[in-house]
Amino acid sequence: MSAADDTRRAELAENLARVRARIDAARSAAGRTDDVTLVAVTKTYPAGDVALLADLGVTDIGENKDQEAAPKAAEVGRRVRWHFVGQLQRNKARSVSAYADVVHSVDSVRLAAALDRGAQGHERVLDVLVQVSLDGDPERGGALPDSADPDRGLAGVAGAVAGADALRLAGLMAVAPLGAEPDAAFARLAEIAAAFHVDHPTATVLSAGMSDDLENAIRHGATHVRIGSALLGKRHYLG
Ligand SMILES: *Cc1c(COP(=O)(O)O)cnc(C)c1O
Repeated sequence: MSAADDTRRAELAENLARVRARIDAARSAAGRTDDVTLVAVTKTYPAGDVALLADLGVTDIGENKDQEAAPKAAEVGRRVRWHFVGQLQRNKARSVSAYADVVHSVDSVRLAAALDRGAQGHERVLDVLVQVSLDGDPERGGALPDSADPDRGLAGVAGAVAGADALRLAGLMAVAPLGAEPDAAFARLAEIAAAFHVDHPTATVLSAGMSDDLENAIRHGATHVRIGSALLGKRHYLG
């Protein structure tokens, strides 16, 4: 292994220890004894970083763009669980269903149907989280709670996933709205989740919380946190 690899490994190990300590402190503060799964969001970072994180004991990796995730998943393989966390276009559903183990961002009946067809084509069964909109802004994605919209209403999307042959309804996902107080946003998410569990008691995954707000999310019941920059460093986008 090169000196550069050693330096990067040490940096990731230090960041990982810090993030795990934050998660443990937040669990204790919330009086929780159940597990919180760390999903390391590796977007914009190379497959080599995914391999280093796996060596350090990270079991779950998140990506948000198919064109970046597909080659990384091919390179790293099945030593980690692959989570697709980004907005997903229906024309990418077939590609994503080839490598994703969990899709966090299903927010329409039509997308659920496309993912089900893709998973069946690959003879796979995918865990699916229905993404919930906490601000009602359709541009930012998410199914709409308290809406009877046939394609985007939360109850309809959850029912479509639950009824799909190659999808397993595993729970809910949300992103705190830009500029909103995360604690209030995740308190609302917890209320939505409680109502959702009446109809879907086994769909217990709650994916919420990122680098800046994981403590708020864990306080309100997150079972999975999606952490990018606090683990890998600040992302630099080209262009
Ligand atoms: C990038 C991303 C994250 C991680 O964000 P950080 O602030 O870097 O921790 C989490 N969830 C989704 C959906 C993302 O796109």
